Amino acid sequence: MDRQHPTPQPTVGRFAPSPTGALHFGSLVTAVGSYCLARQTGGKWLMRMEDLDTPRVVPGAADEILWTLEALGFEWDEEVLYQSRRTDRYEAALERLREQGRIFDCGCTRKEILASAPHPGEEGPVYPGTCRHGLAAGRRPRALRVRVPEEKVCFADGLFGAVEQHLVSAVGDFVLRRADGLFAYQLAVVVDDAECGVNQVVRGADLLSSTPRQVFLYACLGWPPPRFVHLPLALAPDGEKISKRHGTLARGDLQEGGGSLCRALRFLGQQPPAGLDLAPARDVLSWAIAHFDLKRVPSRSRPAEG
Ligand code: GLU
Repeated sequence: MDRQHPTPQPTVGRFAPSPTGALHFGSLVTAVGSYCLARQTGGKWLMRMEDLDTPRVVPGAADEILWTLEALGFEWDEEVLYQSRRTDRYEAALERLREQGRIFDCGCTRKEILASAPHPGEEGPVYPGTCRHGLAAGRRPRALRVRVPEEKVCFADGLFGAVEQHLVSAVGDFVLRRADGLFAYQLAVVVDDAECGVNQVVRGADLLSSTPRQVFLYACLGWPPPRFVHLPLALAPDGEKISKRHGTLARGDLQEGGGSLCRALRFLGQQPPAGLDLAPARDVLSWAIAHFDLKRVPSRSRPAEG
């Protein structure tokens, strides 16, 4: 093989919704972006249901999401992966980290962490390291955490550019298995993307601050990290990230064919011709794959209509 010009790896992208409700405009934006960026290089696009957080899973939501995506003309490669059926894989990864001496039992309750955290972190209080060197006598193990390094974690985002984070001060030793026994998103997402050969992760900018934790786990597990592209978030009029609470894509919306896809494309700075709004969804997606340009995507999260 030519060392100077190695054959580029075909892109493997994915969409990984949490089935906590039906698809909404914000998740459609992510689906469109990740689909176009995978398909325009002839790459694969995988589908994964992030249904590990069982208390939040809504029965029927996974099928509803798949139905909606199909109605909008999306096609995925391979079988849909359900995280809830892959817990043995997360256990195996945890075991490898355990062998490396990186994880520890933590006996702290949420309340205790809040009371002793040095300062508020990226997502709630920073773990102060209480159980890092062993559980105090009489403490019951609750969550499993991984020790984070002193060095900053850096990666290059396809839209936001160079990102770095000092895990110790931003989050502290973070949870890989929760006190209720459920595997944490941070671990599952890394194991799944790595084991499925995903080399391009395109998702919402709300996960930008999680990515350094994931890049760190890739390094611990000896896997190359994928390319990351974080897309701007569609905000509701109240300035919050659009969620299922702000309304989902109703079956009626889908009858307008490509209209919702065109809205998502415009939100991502693309310029579908006006006539395309009335075209069948499949035609909009074909146009989008051929014309999607990451350079046009604004990084600023903003209201959906604007
Ligand atoms: N399941 C997450 C969500 O629905 C996305 C996780 C990811 O893409 O890494 O927001």
